[in-house]
Amino acid sequence: MSSTLSENVQRTGFSIFDHMEDKEHEQIVVCSDPTSGLKALIAIHNTILGPALGGVRMWPYDSEEAALRDVLRLSRGMTYKASVAGLNLGGGKAVIIGNPKKDKSEALFRAFGRYVEGLAGRYITAEDVGMQVRDMEWIRMETKYVTGISTALGGSGSPSSVTAFGVYMGMKAAAKKAFGSDDLGNRKIALQGAGNVSSHLARYMHKEGATLYVTDIDSEKVDRMVRETGAVAIDIDDIYDLDVDIFSPCALGGILNEVTIPRLKCAVIAGAANNQIDDEMIHGALLMERGILYAPDYVINAGGLINVSNELEGYNRDYALEQAARIYDTMMRIFDYASTHNVPTYTASNRLAEKRLEQIGRVKSIYASQSRFSGRLGETTGRR
Ligand code: NAD
Repeated sequence: MSSTLSENVQRTGFSIFDHMEDKEHEQIVVCSDPTSGLKALIAIHNTILGPALGGVRMWPYDSEEAALRDVLRLSRGMTYKASVAGLNLGGGKAVIIGNPKKDKSEALFRAFGRYVEGLAGRYITAEDVGMQVRDMEWIRMETKYVTGISTALGGSGSPSSVTAFGVYMGMKAAAKKAFGSDDLGNRKIALQGAGNVSSHLARYMHKEGATLYVTDIDSEKVDRMVRETGAVAIDIDDIYDLDVDIFSPCALGGILNEVTIPRLKCAVIAGAANNQIDDEMIHGALLMERGILYAPDYVINAGGLINVSNELEGYNRDYALEQAARIYDTMMRIFDYASTHNVPTYTASNRLAEKRLEQIGRVKSIYASQSRFSGRLGETTGRR
């Protein structure tokens, strides 16, 4: 049975404010609509760079505390992702507590949409795990602060191809750093997953002449990639043992851990999957020790966020691709920072994200205080 936040506060001393302070969150919105059964949390981590953009996830969390922890973690991740990608966006995320298979209704999503609308653009939502296009359309009936909508409704549609292009550019940067050349033509590359992003990515790599190896739990997807790119099909668990130049995780999170890392023979890890490293501190350092160059996941897969962020100013696919191409330079800066400071690459990207936030935050606070000052002067002068 799920436990409530107030029960947890009494039982474990769990404090919402401690959690918010710990990760420096600006705001949490608790959304409750008993008529439709909506129970949701919207977390706004940081709006220094712009409105907080992040998807809404529907998931049957075991407890409200688990939902809160998840939304705090995910929203903070969005701040870092937007910052490193050079976007004018902050970090936010929402979770709806419920079973996506049986708890969905128009009333529930419209109630959620009204909460998003109430934030007047401080939080902009998008599709995430457990959500479908139809659900987003219901949300959109109540609020304009929705991205990632279908092309038919003037949105950008599926972000997979732009994400794949960004991963391809980030992979080329990693190849340049590791092998001295960003040409993937004579590289052996292992793909974990043959889904949406991976199949677009495989086409780029195949066109350049790379030798591909692929695995997926869905054999039809593997067969299709084999037909299209001449990739070699590999058993699920054998993908970690291949003697390849690049390993590209494009399926699951948490796959880089103490069991898999010692098996890897690649020089580079560059793939689309979110949260690839099981424990950043332990396994990030282990990758560095083993001399494997890791392209931080939230940097290399930022094409999806870049794509939806484009909708805010009128979607232009060419511009989205141009922005995604910049992942190459961003990745180079991260690798250079990591080498210079002798830190794991994920630490380097976190530091660069924080640096941008600090710099822009400082500039904004200077201008804010100046404008407040000149505003007061103006008022006084006017009255006189
Ligand atoms: P997808 O569902 O189309 O593809 C994932 C594939 O992984 C599926 O084909 C699935 O069968 C396969 N898979 C599942 N378990 C596996 C296993 N144990 N071994 C091998 N394959 C397995 O998803 P996608 O949109 O291609 O996204 C892939 C990853 O990239 C996800 O982690 C996603 O969060 C991340 N990502 C995607 C985007 C995007 O624009 N789609 C953006 C950023 C990050």
